Amino acid sequence: MPLYEYQCRVCGKRFEVLQRLGESSAGLQCPSCASTDVEKRLSTFAAKVGAAPAPCGAPSPSSCGTGGFT
Ligand SMILES: [Zn+2]
Repeated sequence: MPLYEYQCRVCGKRFEVLQRLGESSAGLQCPSCASTDVEKRLSTFAAKVGAAPAPCGAPSPSSCGTGGFT
């Protein structure tokens, strides 16, 4: 599930939200000030592809972000 980053236009708080594809961001609130005036930022999910730690237990251990297997 993609992780989206939002930033509050009121207080500048950044927060991340897990959303299904196509799901509306309507109703999202800033966790800091409860404002609904938030803007979507570039997806950190897309930005971190290849860099984020892969879930361990994946078929190929060498792709696990923590390493440890040689
Ligand atoms: Zn805020």
